[in-house]
Amino acid sequence: MIICSNCQSFFELPKDADDYAEGKGDCVREEKDEKGKFWLSKSTQENSTCSLFKAKH
Ligand code: SF4
Repeated sequence: MIICSNCQSFFELPKDADDYAEGKGDCVREEKDEKGKFWLSKSTQENSTCSLFKAKH
């Protein structure tokens, strides 16, 4: 299924995280521009989806 929990960029929040909630995680993606590589991070839910989905290996 094309949902965040099956995506390479999804990282579940640890249970002891301050903002822990069931199904909540971070979407962390590597991006590249003319200056080099950088990381983008945003909050997401395991059953969300987006067009940047990449299946886990
Ligand atoms: S928001 Fe998109 S890129 Fe990020 S984890 Fe979910 S499906 Fe993957």
